[in-house]
Amino acid sequence: MKALDELTFDNRFARLGDAFSTHVLPEPLDEPRLVVASNAAMALLDLDPAVAETPVFAELFSGHKLWAEAEPRAMIYSGHQFGGYTPQLGDGRGLLLGEVYNEAGEHWDLHLKGAGMTPYSRMGDGRAVLRSSIREFLASEALHALGIPSSRALCVIGSSTPVWREKQERGAMVLRLAPSHIRFGHFEYFYYTKKPEQQAELAEHVLNLHYPECREQPEPYLAMFREIVERNAEMIAKWQAYGFCHGVMNTDNMSILGITFDFGPFAFLDDFDAHFICNHSDHEGRYSFSNQVPIGQWNLSALAQALTPFISVDALKESLGLYLPLYQAHYLDLMRRRLGLTTAEDDDQQLVERLLKLMQNSGVDYTLFFRRLGDESAALAAARLRDDFVDMAGFDAWAEQYKERVARDADSSEEQRRERMHAVNPLYILRNYLAQNAITAAESGDYSEVRRLHEVLSRPFEEQAGMEQYAQRPPDWGKHLEISCSS
Ligand code: AMP
Ligand code: MG
Repeated sequence: MKALDELTFDNRFARLGDAFSTHVLPEPLDEPRLVVASNAAMALLDLDPAVAETPVFAELFSGHKLWAEAEPRAMIYSGHQFGGYTPQLGDGRGLLLGEVYNEAGEHWDLHLKGAGMTPYSRMGDGRAVLRSSIREFLASEALHALGIPSSRALCVIGSSTPVWREKQERGAMVLRLAPSHIRFGHFEYFYYTKKPEQQAELAEHVLNLHYPECREQPEPYLAMFREIVERNAEMIAKWQAYGFCHGVMNTDNMSILGITFDFGPFAFLDDFDAHFICNHSDHEGRYSFSNQVPIGQWNLSALAQALTPFISVDALKESLGLYLPLYQAHYLDLMRRRLGLTTAEDDDQQLVERLLKLMQNSGVDYTLFFRRLGDESAALAAARLRDDFVDMAGFDAWAEQYKERVARDADSSEEQRRERMHAVNPLYILRNYLAQNAITAAESGDYSEVRRLHEVLSRPFEEQAGMEQYAQRPPDWGKHLEISCSS
């Protein structure tokens, strides 16, 4: 276990120099205070969890103090936003403080979001508000606990600094951790600004540090792109299987590592709705829940375009062609497991699709349905769940098909079935209304609810005593919360 001053830095991205990022010091927030910290994320840095309670912790992650070896930098990137190319983006309110490596030899970027203005702030104030910082913190750690690849969050530090959004709010910072903060948009920036040397330097950097195994392949860059395609297909399959809606799948928000990245107006589905749009400024539903699958491919094509200096167009196209089949395979595998199946049959896809279609018009809670399906035998669970469906006859027909399918699957006791299904079907999910309750309390200075919710969501598959209220359908007020896109 380390103390805060014992972190070891190795700032590899900063060493790429001024063509890639700009030195900027964080701008401190007033009266910093710890809102919440993640022990699991602390462990990634070998930090003793007790240090989160020390005043220096809040000072470090609110811009008041900096390690001598930190080199805060605002990264330069661009990207496609809602389908259109924006030539200059970059870290407008976040800074890469440096790269820390832990005792296991892993490197973690420390990125402080909400750290003040940078040359890339455009019209923004460089700040993040408490509300959005709490949402990013909770989502990062909750996704990770569900087994969905994601950036991580060490802590949220609150303050008394006023920040204007639709109304006056308070500034906060979230300390984000990821093995890299390089986005698709980094490659796009150097491609569209026609800087082939820097583009090559960036590609070398990513290949060497993040895809070293691709070096062994005959065409290392192609192998790397293929791996990025595969990781994205798997990540998005997990989003779809668990009902996660990202909301702003612009290419500047897509990580080169295939991890969920940059949380804005995201949401987990309550009732199943394939057409759900969580981002209220997404009028056309470009990033609706079901569109996430084709948009994943669209984004990979945008990256492919930026990689044309290194890889032939034919090879890029062939790799892009792997995305949908890989997505389908991962998705179906997870959905089979969510249904408690241990073998594969040709009709399984149709079984899943039929179920989702029935859910679509019924207002069935997506998370609780699967959890309850595993509570008892297929027959008993189906009998109990049918009341939730508007088309009960339709559901009965599906349940017959499902029971027959279960009967053909590996023989297992009810106990084994429950264990197997509960291990993949969460009881607790980050529902918007739960996050909202925690935020409302935090905005009045009470951080206990954020901490409790974080705690519950860190073990989503395990029933926790006294936490029944976190495993309920949303109350009426919480069903259609408008989550502000301003963050
Ligand atoms: P996002 O929608 O958070 O992914 O941000 C898109 C771009 O806008 C990024 O370049 C951000 O750094 C920048 N940005 C977002 N909010 C602010 C803000 N309050 N101040 C400065 N830049 C911002
Ligand atoms: Mg972003």
